[in-house]
Amino acid sequence: MKKMPIEKLFSLFNETAEILQEELQCTYLEALAETGENIFQQQIVQPEISEITKKRLEKKYSEIQLPAYKSDDIRRAYQFAILKGMKDSVQANHQMTPDTIGYFISYLIGKFTNDQKDISILDPAVGTGNLLFAILNKKEQGRRMEAYGVDVDDLLLRLGYIGANLQMQSVEFFNQDALKPLFIDPVDVIVCDLPVGYYPDAANAANFSLKREQGHSYAHHLFIEQSIKHTKPGGYLFFLIPNDLFESEEAPKLHEYLKETAYIQAVLQLPPSMFASGQAAKSILVLQKKKTGLKPPGEVLLAAIPKLSNKEAMDRMLMKMENWFEENKKG
Ligand code: SAM
Repeated sequence: MKKMPIEKLFSLFNETAEILQEELQCTYLEALAETGENIFQQQIVQPEISEITKKRLEKKYSEIQLPAYKSDDIRRAYQFAILKGMKDSVQANHQMTPDTIGYFISYLIGKFTNDQKDISILDPAVGTGNLLFAILNKKEQGRRMEAYGVDVDDLLLRLGYIGANLQMQSVEFFNQDALKPLFIDPVDVIVCDLPVGYYPDAANAANFSLKREQGHSYAHHLFIEQSIKHTKPGGYLFFLIPNDLFESEEAPKLHEYLKETAYIQAVLQLPPSMFASGQAAKSILVLQKKKTGLKPPGEVLLAAIPKLSNKEAMDRMLMKMENWFEENKKG
């Protein structure tokens, strides 16, 4: 049977990563970054590998013409290879954001920012970039997105910047703790699959209103505060949040902070079947940073997103959302 293009591209990533993994005695994800670099540079950039391995790799690379692929097909093939490498080695909190979520957030960005032609967008926990790329690859034709990504994990960020090169997406990356000062001007849109857990740097946490008085602060709360600070007045923020975000003992403080700085626009619960367990299930929280003269929506859009396979329920939900936009986001 003839291979589908994405499978063929995945096989290229996968087989060449395995060859490099063995030759360089590194992890699969490190080898995937190396092969991604070779494919983008159209040359083998590891001087230490043997001539035989070099020949094997060159033969495989010559079988694929990257420009023949759509950016989002490249993202998907690369995503499958990253998923394979993450299976054993990456902690749950650093997992890649699934593309169905990326596509849904992309739809929401389109709806919330449809009065702006060009926008700047920042993902302060960009990881492999899968979420950001799903958005960039699906943006409306003719719309420009000036994109920034920050992550503290150098391997994930490297996979991210190689992914951006392969997909011909221009993204400025910063390898740093996103809760430290950022050298990025405030943006129109923030997207973030929040890293959930404790933030270990107590000295830096002390700079945030959402620090905990006792013990380590919640990284996800500090990320929300940092993101709001880095958004233009009137700009939008799209967070993937744990479903119990507003139930912890720190939640009242978070509520208070949000009341002062932003308007909650929407809370959309994702289908629990998308996640490994009910406890790991997430929602999308949409905020708008306050601006003089700006009014909150008449009502917050609250909805449970059905399983994508349930077309009827999905159509009903999209209709409900369209009505909400009609009534709350005129002009
Ligand atoms: N959206 C990403 C993707 O599609 O690959 C996945 C994001 S993952 C759920 C959370 C990310 O937060 C991880 O990549 C992790 O390295 C990053 N992270 C955790 N703490 C951080 C910090 N203090 N500063 C910057 N990044 C951080």
